[in-house]
Formats: sequence, structure tokens, C-alpha cells
Amino acid sequence: MAEVRDYKLFIGGEWVDSASGETFESHDASTGELIGRIARGAKEDMRRGVEAARRQFESGEWADMPQAERSRRMSKAWDALQEALPVLSDIEAHDAGHTIRMANLFTIALGVEHWRALAELSATIGEYEPVPFSEFPAPVWGIVRREPYGVTAAITPWNFPFILMMWKVAPALATGNSVVVKPATLTPMSTLEFAKILGDTGLFPPGVLNVVPGPGGAAGEELASNALVDKVAFTGSTEVGRRIMQLASSTVKKVTLELGGKSANIILDDADLDVAVPGSLWATFLHQGQICHSGTRCFVPASIFDEVVGRMVEMAESLKIGSAMDFDTDMGPLVDRSQLDTVERYVQLGLEEGAKLVTGGERVVLPGLEGGHYYRPTIFTEVSNSMRIAQEEIFGPVLSVIRYDSVEEAIAMANDSIYGLGGGVWSRDIPRALSVAKRIRTGTIWINDWHLLSAYAPFGGYKQSGVGRELGTWGLREYQQTKYIHVDQPPRKDQKFWYQVLGL
Ligand code: NAD
Repeated sequence: MAEVRDYKLFIGGEWVDSASGETFESHDASTGELIGRIARGAKEDMRRGVEAARRQFESGEWADMPQAERSRRMSKAWDALQEALPVLSDIEAHDAGHTIRMANLFTIALGVEHWRALAELSATIGEYEPVPFSEFPAPVWGIVRREPYGVTAAITPWNFPFILMMWKVAPALATGNSVVVKPATLTPMSTLEFAKILGDTGLFPPGVLNVVPGPGGAAGEELASNALVDKVAFTGSTEVGRRIMQLASSTVKKVTLELGGKSANIILDDADLDVAVPGSLWATFLHQGQICHSGTRCFVPASIFDEVVGRMVEMAESLKIGSAMDFDTDMGPLVDRSQLDTVERYVQLGLEEGAKLVTGGERVVLPGLEGGHYYRPTIFTEVSNSMRIAQEEIFGPVLSVIRYDSVEEAIAMANDSIYGLGGGVWSRDIPRALSVAKRIRTGTIWINDWHLLSAYAPFGGYKQSGVGRELGTWGLREYQQTKYIHVDQPPRKDQKFWYQVLGL
């Protein structure tokens, strides 16, 4: 039986009740058991969070601290995060249904590593940049200074709560901003635990980090529209991303959006199938397909189609479905009943559209885990790229395998999507794979791999998969305003350019 944890709102360095005194519950994704009672933030609570962040920013305590000192403090906090890895992994596994193997080896460990890397990187990117000297219409010297935006909002989804929060909080703090985080109500616990760890270090002044969980319609809308917020960083669905853009426009806030995807995975006819087949399943079925850049459309040459599908089916059927807490589990639960309903609806739709179900297509009820929502890895063939199952994000373990005759045709179908988040090419011939990768309109493309993301590489979407980039120097720059400072040197008024133009 998992421990039940209680969390309040983290505002201005203190743990406080919500104004209404209401709470909501969080449940174990594998069993449905109660694992958390959390204060429910609403508009008024969010305003308090934003005001605390604003006060901190205006005080300059964090914002005006030398970059090297902010970076040093974050690196020190990394020790505390490292120590807490087992607790954080345990929470993510229970709350979000990350298999404990995935949490330990990948999602939590990588989130903490990204914190360290972004803290260190921020100390190397420099506060000032010289501007090239120009002499027309008069000599001009100048510098560009990078400054924090102020109060930044981080609104995160339920699927990868910890790491996606890290991608926003780490660059925001490293560059001198204050942050207010609104995690998804389905999976808020790792973010709240992170705030507890950071708060306990005593390294961060009050109000630098605030966490106000609550429903999107109340807490989220307030955060995205509050006039004291300067920048909104959002990860979630494309539909809500459009709404965030509208809300943020009220005071013309800077916005970065990481949205949905329907990523194309192209197996070329020279691919090593011993790698490409399991790789394509890794691309689709990791975390039960509840990943924005999952490779859910797999394009396979007609010449090797039957062999690839045969191998895929055999491997998919060998994946072990079970509790996220079990070290033997390959695929854990879907996050909740409503996500299971969505998957079932799309599988039914696929059948109605004429696709052929070659494996899966049914939920699994596991003895003792009846409160969890499990679904078999599912593969469709006879899919055309225009079908809804190939165009819409299902966010579950459903793979569409699409036959192609020429590479040109595969590229055209890959690009025929409103999304452009991830993508992949499998081939033994790297120059050939590169020539395909260059033509796919997407923010990230893997060659002979999937899902691995570097702290130093940009991540983000083309088309309706998003705006802006997270991670690396690209991600840090999204949290900085660019100020040009013009510096003039001539001592005498009659040397000024304006003296000649206006005669002053
Ligand atoms: P969602 O869009 O429903 O919710 C995301 C967050 O926005 C939650 O915190 C939610 O409470 C909040 N929210 C909802 N309505 C809001 C509103 N009107 N105003 C302000 N905030 C609001 O997404 P989800 O269901 O939590 O996550 C799944 C989606 O996230 C998928 O579409 C997936 O592709 C996407 N996603 C994208 C990335 C990426 O990096 N591109 C990563 C992970 C997930």
C-alpha cells in the first residue's frame, strides 16, 4: 500500500492552504488507490502566487544576483535532488504511472541531470554581447544585454510532470526570473515534492519558485492571463495551447508552447531490422504511447512490409503489462479512465475507417490491479495517411503502419500532418538517412534512435506542435529579454550626429 502524502500550495516560500480550504485527491495510476491530498488552487490562490513571484522579482534579490552565483546555488541544490532521486522516482511511478524502471533510469534521472546541465550552461552564455561597430550615419558603438523577463508561468501536462516542469523552471531560475508552476491536477505530486526539496535547501529566496496546483479552467486561466506575468511556458495539447496564446495576448506576453504530435517514423529499405523494429516499438509504446513525440505513424517499404509487421507483432505481444511499481513491467497503466476511453474510441474508429487490427485492440484487466487502466500494445495496418487514426493524436499505445512504394511518397506522407514535433529515419546509410531527415518538417528527428533528448540540444515543434524551443542555449534565451544599449563616446556637442540633422 503506497504512502498518502499531503501537500499545500507553495507560495512565497511557505506552504499555505487554498483560500477555499478545498483539496483534491491524487490516485495511484496502477491501482487507483489514494496517494495524495492536495490543496486545490483557484483564481485567488493563483493571484497570490503571482504576486509573491512579482515581489521577489522586483526586490532584485534573485534577479540581480550575479549569474555565477545563481548557477552555483542551483548546482548545490543538485546534490539535494540527487539524494532525493529514489523518492521522486517512487512518486512519479505511483502518481503518473511511469514504470519504476523508466522513472529510475530515464525520466526522473534525466530531469535532475537537465537541471544541473542548464544551471552550468547558464554560467557560460554571458550577460553581454558586443554589437559590430558601424560608422554610418555616424559612429555607433553598443552592447546587447540579456535580462530576465520577470515573472514566468509554467503550465505542465500530466504525462511527464517532473521533466517537463524542469525544462521550464531550470532555465527560468538560471536566468534570474521568478516562476509560478501550475502542474496538471492528475499528476501534481513530483512537482510539489521538488518544491519541498528546493525550499528545504534554503538556497532560493522566497517567491522565486511558487507551485499552485489547480484546474486549468480556474488556476490555469488566471496564470496565463494575469497582468503581472511576463512570460508563459506551456506544455500540453494543441487545443489548450491555442487558448493559452489567446489568454496571453491580453497583455502581450512572451509565449512558448510545446504541443501535440503525430510523429512520422520512416524505415528505409536498407535499415537493420534487428534495430529498426524494436526501435520503432520503443518509439511508440514507451509510457504506453502517452508521449508527445511518440512515433505513431510508421512508414515501411512495400518490399519488406510483411516481414516488418510480422516482427513487430511478435515483439509487441511479448511486452509485459503490469503495475508500474513492478521491476519486470514493460508497459504500465494509462493515466486514468478517460485516457482509456479515448484509446478505445480511436481503436473503434480505426476499425470503422477500414484499418486492419493485427494485434492488441483491447483493454487488460489484471488481478489485484482492477483500479488501474491497462491496454494492449495495438498495431493497425491497411492504414492510409488521411485516416483519423493517422492524423489525430491518440496519446495511447496505438501504432499505424503505413506501406510506401517510394521514399518520395514516404516523405510526402510524413509531412502531411498539422504536427511537426518528432520524427525518425532508420537506415544503415547515414548520408541517405540525413537527406531524408532534412526534408521532414519537424523540430526533432532521430536517425536510428528515438526519445533521447540532450540538455544541450533544442526541443520544440514545427507547425501546430508549438512555438519556441526548450533546452540548451536556445531554451535559456527564451527566458531572456534582449536589451540594446547604445553607447556614445564623442565629448563635444558639435560632434554629435543630431547636431548636423536638427541643429540643436
Ligand atoms: P492539456 O492541454 O489538457 O493540459 C495541460 C495543462 O494545461 C494542464 O496543467 C491543464 O490543467 C492546463 N490547462 C487546461 N486548460 C487550461 C486553460 N484553459 N488555461 C490554462 N491552463 C489550462 O494536456 P494534457 O492532457 O495534460 O497532456 C497531454 C497533451 O500534452 C498531449 O496533447 C501531448 O502531446 C502534449 N504534450 C506535449 C509535449 C511537448 O513537449 N510538445 C510534451 C508532453 C505532452
